[in-house]
Amino acid sequence: MSDKPTLAQYQQFIREENFKAYKCVDCGMVIAPPNGTCYGCGSTNMEWTDVSGKGKLISFTVIHIASEEFQAEAPYYIGIVELEEGTRVTSRLKGFDSEKPEDVTLGIPVLIDYEHAASGNVYLAFKPA
Ligand SMILES: [Zn+2]
Repeated sequence: MSDKPTLAQYQQFIREENFKAYKCVDCGMVIAPPNGTCYGCGSTNMEWTDVSGKGKLISFTVIHIASEEFQAEAPYYIGIVELEEGTRVTSRLKGFDSEKPEDVTLGIPVLIDYEHAASGNVYLAFKPA
């Protein structure tokens, strides 16, 4: 594949609400955000791939004090989600009460979604499945 993976392209897919990960043609490992080299076998023969959008919540934190750009959105969750395909992504979490982090359970199934933030940006997000 001639496409060089860039973070800019990855973010563009998210803005278009068309999330893609990067997949190794040789061993099938799926990586996100993209890296030019496969973590599994070292191959550089990789291509963009769609994912199921299903995952589970591995970890999360609540952002109360945000930088100026994100102040209007606080408090909000940032989570680490392990996709069904095996890769882990950092993502916004939506559909959870940000005042009640004690209600968020690790390991629960989540589904890909997108967060349209007050700043006008679109972020990768996951919501309870
Ligand atoms: Zn590989």
